[in-house]
Amino acid sequence: MSDTHEHAAGDSVPELKQRIQELEAMLHACRVRLPNAPAEAVRELAESEERFALAVRGTNDGIWDWDIRTGEVFFSPPWKSMIGYEDDELENVFATFDKLLHPEDHERVMATLNDYLESRIPRYSVEFRFKHKDGSWRWILARGRSLRDKSGKPYRMAGSHTDVTERKHDEEELHKARQAAEAANSAKSVFLANMSHEIRTPMNGVIGMSELLLGTTLDDSQREYLNMLKDSADSLLELLNDILDFSKIEAGKMDLDSHEFDLNTIVTETVQAMGIRAFQKRLVLLHHISPEVPARLLGDDGRLRQILINLVGNAIKFTHKGGVTVEVNVESGTADALMLHFKINDTGIGITPEMHESIFEAFTQAEASTTRRYGGTGLGLAICRDLVTLMQGRIWVESQLGVGSTFHFTAAFGRTSGISIKPLSPRFQPVMTAPASMRVLVVEDGHVNQLVSARMLEKRGHLVTLASSGQEAIDFFNSEPFDAILMDVQMPGMNGFEATAAIREIEKKSGEHVRIIAMTANAMKGDREDCLAAGMDDYIAKPLRSVELFQVLEKNSRRSMIQEPEQPFTRVEAAAIRPPVESVPFDLAAFRESAGDEKLMRKLIAIFPEDTQKYLKKAEKALAAGKAKPLYEAAHSLKGMLGVYAADKALRLASELSEYAHAGDLKGAQLMYDQLKKECAMLNGALMGAYDPGI
Ligand code: ADP
Repeated sequence: MSDTHEHAAGDSVPELKQRIQELEAMLHACRVRLPNAPAEAVRELAESEERFALAVRGTNDGIWDWDIRTGEVFFSPPWKSMIGYEDDELENVFATFDKLLHPEDHERVMATLNDYLESRIPRYSVEFRFKHKDGSWRWILARGRSLRDKSGKPYRMAGSHTDVTERKHDEEELHKARQAAEAANSAKSVFLANMSHEIRTPMNGVIGMSELLLGTTLDDSQREYLNMLKDSADSLLELLNDILDFSKIEAGKMDLDSHEFDLNTIVTETVQAMGIRAFQKRLVLLHHISPEVPARLLGDDGRLRQILINLVGNAIKFTHKGGVTVEVNVESGTADALMLHFKINDTGIGITPEMHESIFEAFTQAEASTTRRYGGTGLGLAICRDLVTLMQGRIWVESQLGVGSTFHFTAAFGRTSGISIKPLSPRFQPVMTAPASMRVLVVEDGHVNQLVSARMLEKRGHLVTLASSGQEAIDFFNSEPFDAILMDVQMPGMNGFEATAAIREIEKKSGEHVRIIAMTANAMKGDREDCLAAGMDDYIAKPLRSVELFQVLEKNSRRSMIQEPEQPFTRVEAAAIRPPVESVPFDLAAFRESAGDEKLMRKLIAIFPEDTQKYLKKAEKALAAGKAKPLYEAAHSLKGMLGVYAADKALRLASELSEYAHAGDLKGAQLMYDQLKKECAMLNGALMGAYDPGI
């Protein structure tokens, strides 16, 4: 009898019989105790008896039946054997139950019981630890139901005990495992932050030094090797950024910024940045923003740019013929927010239907061979999907193998309250015009990094003073005037935050304010906020890229405001390349920067006449036929390619031509076309003259 509870579904017939007998005995006892029960109560009792009988036959549960008025309780033999006792070893009174309850659970169980009896809760169901004869604790699930008299007062309560110890242990194990996994995950993100810091610092040296070396006189093979070195370092950094982003999202540490930005600029700049790749593959890269889209929006432009770069980058990567178009439309809108719909269409290799969902999973690529042929990690789309979700949108693909793909995503943005000004034509990164010289204090403890930043700045024409510690920085600051301070954040001794605080304190007396720009290799969330909170004005991540460095440094600088507006050559470029003689139809420095290397520059110059002719002819034909659409397309293509050459004036003309074509004004378009044609011829001459491909 004592171990009946250990049998489950396969209970033997005699045992079942015995249980039924027990139950009948119990029922009998109840009847005896209730000789004059009202008819309704008797019926209710009969029903619950039936339920119990069923329950008992099918389970290993123990049964209890408590006469509230007398305090007597019937505990069925399985109730007792569940905790190791024979039937006669435990007294059938409420105190037995009371005594065996775990002290820590006692109060809670009694409170639940009272709540039920006083009808504050509809059901009695409670879990607690119960003492086994062998001294161990078993987890019990108790359930029960009461019978009440006319006034609603309970006079009897009966129910079951189920041993849930195993389930509880499983739950505990699961809980522990989850905690361990969470701890491991957060350890992983801390590790990644540290690793990113550790890798970024030496990479700053590698990328910075190769940038500097590229600016020196090199022979062809040296330049080629160096370009390969820099390309590898750049892709390593890209990979590192992807992994970091992904782990940030996984750890729930990715937050979106929200500020005002110009959508047109973001899309145009992205397309321009990718233009060079499309151009190399002879692909047409077009973009169109619906006029309904407001010029200025609120949101995270950096992350939007990241999504676009990823999708446009993939589209170019997986397309060998034809082209890529980017379209932006309004999906829906309210007074203060709107949902935009972005479409990136390509005429590339396409994706099989089975992969339409899974390519958005991390580390998934459409086919194993894709990896070898096209490279990549399979993280890009996973990051896009997560970013889009953070922007309250969704991402999906429509694609046909061998025909092409269209990636769609939606994202929500806020409307701005101010008046929106739509820029007439895309501007070039203002950074590429050389500024007047600034006096810059560079505070940095690592020798390589000192050299990288100092050389970059000196080549740009700035005057650099180096400080190796926070204290040295303060000493210099006290003895000389500076236009800006570039401050490493992590330094032994006095760190960048402390040095900044000290400088801000000194400034309180003079009332001056020197721009302090933080340099940090940590790319985790909160860095930027920390720097700004510490009194710094701006922030730049390592590895330093000259373009970003100059952009941040020269932003709002007093000196750059009074500088001559156009001065397209910095000393480096002037030394390496023969300058054009008079008028400057393009910005050589910017062209050089966007091409990235000399070899590509040469190639681009060599193909310039053929390509411009192609599009100009197309435009001419469209004008002659009075067709606005092909004219618009041709102008658009010209715009894309002229951007690569940093040909500001030609770009503006092409842009205006495309606007006339878009508006269907063919007369205006003709005028623009004539000017553009002349400008392209001049540009061609200037390109040839500026750079002798034979050198
Ligand atoms: P990666 O490009 O680094 O491999 P992604 O997550 O960006 O990672 O893309 C995952 C996979 O989806 C790619 O490897 C490719 O197989 C497929 N894919 C993405 N974009 C395109 C596209 N435009 N055309 C064809 N296949 C694509």
